[in-house]
Amino acid sequence: MLNIALFGPPGAGKGTQSERLIRQYNLFYISTGDLLRKELAEGTALGKQAESIIASGGLVPDEIIVQIIEKTITNNPDADGFLFDGFPRTYIQAYILEGLMIKLNTSLTCLINLQVPEKVSVDRLLKRGQSSGRSDDNEKVIRNRLREYNEKTVPVLRFYKEKGLHHEIDATKTIDEVNAGIVEILRGELSKRLYNVVVFGYPGSGRGSQGRALAERHGLEYVATGPMLEAEIAAGTETGKRVKELYESGQLVPDEIVVPLIEERLRNPRGVKGFIFKGFPRTLVQSYILDGLLRKHDSSISKIIEIEVPTLELIRRLDERSKTDRRMPYDSSTSKIVKRLQEHETKTVPVIQKYNQRHSVTKIDGMGPFEEVFEKISAEIEEGLKRMR
Ligand code: AMP
Repeated sequence: MLNIALFGPPGAGKGTQSERLIRQYNLFYISTGDLLRKELAEGTALGKQAESIIASGGLVPDEIIVQIIEKTITNNPDADGFLFDGFPRTYIQAYILEGLMIKLNTSLTCLINLQVPEKVSVDRLLKRGQSSGRSDDNEKVIRNRLREYNEKTVPVLRFYKEKGLHHEIDATKTIDEVNAGIVEILRGELSKRLYNVVVFGYPGSGRGSQGRALAERHGLEYVATGPMLEAEIAAGTETGKRVKELYESGQLVPDEIVVPLIEERLRNPRGVKGFIFKGFPRTLVQSYILDGLLRKHDSSISKIIEIEVPTLELIRRLDERSKTDRRMPYDSSTSKIVKRLQEHETKTVPVIQKYNQRHSVTKIDGMGPFEEVFEKISAEIEEGLKRMR
């Protein structure tokens, strides 16, 4: 998600810039001022409480703001991101925003401060007052709004400066120039992001070969538990020795071994655009673990692909592979093949179902030739990467 707070005194151009940004980035717009004016127009209890405060240019109490903002955010959990205009306006509201973002499993990407000198603010608001019909766009109230801004809102900047989430922009420039400046800031923010893909599919669906090729084409890092375990065996590490014993006795490799290996791969993602996961998460427990590991990097799953292939075709492919050099130790007999298919059905399908409810899983028909399936998945990833940048 891309969550941005536009900051600045009244008249800085937050509303004007917002109109463009919501279209450019497909964001859900939240202006506490607009929400309050709506409550007011509808004559709700909240609106009545806020009416005289808005008319005098004061700040509405945080208790009222938290109610209207929570209602709006929780009604739109599927938004690609939120654009906040006029919020947070107090130090307390910055904490409120942090809590609300955590509830949605996300965080504020950055705060952009549109800087204008007081004189420019006043001139712009007086001009707007000639046509806005807003009771608070007159000189006396404007002065009061600016006083409130300097006393209560400016300290909010410290909160974000300390977190390194704060950007400044000269908002006396033209609308186009300010917009270009914001786009530049957001480009920088987005380039820090990881794009994470999970490729699901039954054994034999081609998820491994597709995953590897997709990682190469899109400059992502391929993270597959199978090859990682094999690399441990080949390197003769302690973990490798344990894994070898487990493989030989036909037992599953426990999470205690797999998870630290994945964590190690994710530890230092500098310079990496993102990851493609294959063979992980395999169970519901692992799906929670992956969410947690990605969260440590302020990241999450960006795209979930499920390659669909009918069961008979899977058996045919795995059986064929068992007769070639590409044979895996676990598809050397029919009973082993059936066991793996069952394993996927009982343990991994529930994971896909869970993701299907929360994100949306992109299903890809895996029946065609490799190249055709590859191009289909590739286009999905390309589209996702483009939306991110
Ligand atoms: P705006 O449309 O953002 O200029 O807001 C108009 C008025 O609504 C402000 O002068 C405040 O009285 C009130 N208001 C809007 N947002 C907030 C907020 N986050 N906290 C407190 N008061 C607010």
